[in-house]
Amino acid sequence: MSDWRDNIRKTEPYVPGEQPQEGNIIKLNTNENPYPPAPAVAKLAAGIDTDRLRLYPDPDVRLLSAELARYHGVRDEQVFVGVGSDDVLAMSFLTFFNSDVPILFPDITYSFYIVWAGLFGIPCRMPAVKEDYSIDINDYMQENGGIVIANPNAPTSLYEPVENIEKIVKANQGSVVIIDEAYIDFGGESALKLIDTYDNILIVRTFSKSRSMAGMRIGYAIGNEELICALKGVKLSYNSYTMNMPSIILGTESVKDEAYFKATTDKIIKTRERITGELRDVGFKVLDSHTNFLFISHKDVPALKIFEELKKQKIYVRYFNKPRLDNYLRVTVGTDEEMDEFMKVLRDIIM
Ligand SMILES: *Cc1c(COP(=O)(O)O)cnc(C)c1O
Repeated sequence: MSDWRDNIRKTEPYVPGEQPQEGNIIKLNTNENPYPPAPAVAKLAAGIDTDRLRLYPDPDVRLLSAELARYHGVRDEQVFVGVGSDDVLAMSFLTFFNSDVPILFPDITYSFYIVWAGLFGIPCRMPAVKEDYSIDINDYMQENGGIVIANPNAPTSLYEPVENIEKIVKANQGSVVIIDEAYIDFGGESALKLIDTYDNILIVRTFSKSRSMAGMRIGYAIGNEELICALKGVKLSYNSYTMNMPSIILGTESVKDEAYFKATTDKIIKTRERITGELRDVGFKVLDSHTNFLFISHKDVPALKIFEELKKQKIYVRYFNKPRLDNYLRVTVGTDEEMDEFMKVLRDIIM
């Protein structure tokens, strides 16, 4: 007798940070933005014509794709929009990583990559990051079925100069190189400028961090038209109407307000730099962050202890129980008030 259990697809799901439902917490554990989305988004949200919810949304998400194309100075055909960059990245793995040769990504990086590789049966190899947690670009000069690099990287917060990204893209023109730029708006130069020179680079971005819209689920990819066309083909072979109508119109509105976007990202960068200094003053090692979070380790007090003590006082940060990460904490940069409270509680803990 056959057993249906033998035919279940085996998965090792990604473990996201906690989303506590209790009130009165300081939430610094999933890199959300502490500031609201652009004011025009709230205004438009209040006026959404619910009669339009009767209709299917535009499967090609043309309104938002066109606005993003304008913002980035590319053609509409070079933009692919999805339900958060997780959706865009998953679709990209499915579309481009279809070789028997292993794909490459660093051993310390966004932990969803290995989950998708497992789910889609993609062989992978994970070169170790260096002692200082930066990637070694020479590791990406070997034969591969594709490459994915988060730049800046998570959870290390480190940025790899775009010149080095170009070396990787240039040396691997036989495979697709995905650059996950979830945090690029908080520092560093984008690899976007490479898309006209190389047809094998795909840039992936999200509205979840710098645009304060994690709850809306919007992500996108930019690249050569042929790459985008292939992505659309796979997406439309899977589910046509993934992006809902409110996300399309509210996402579009967010892109229009460049001044607000710049003001909030600048504010986060300023807070980040101030808190980096304060943490170093009290004995923390803090990696040089180009993101909206800090990757920190104390010289005396174990990370796990700090994590648990903070949680008792309703301050949530992220702890990873993995080799080389288990004495570090990843702390999202919140508002100045939140970070001052965090520092106050933290100083008591490490005393
Ligand atoms: C947050 C994050 C994502 C996912 O973002 P969503 O758009 O919310 O799905 C992707 N990659 C990295 C490196 C991230 O940190």
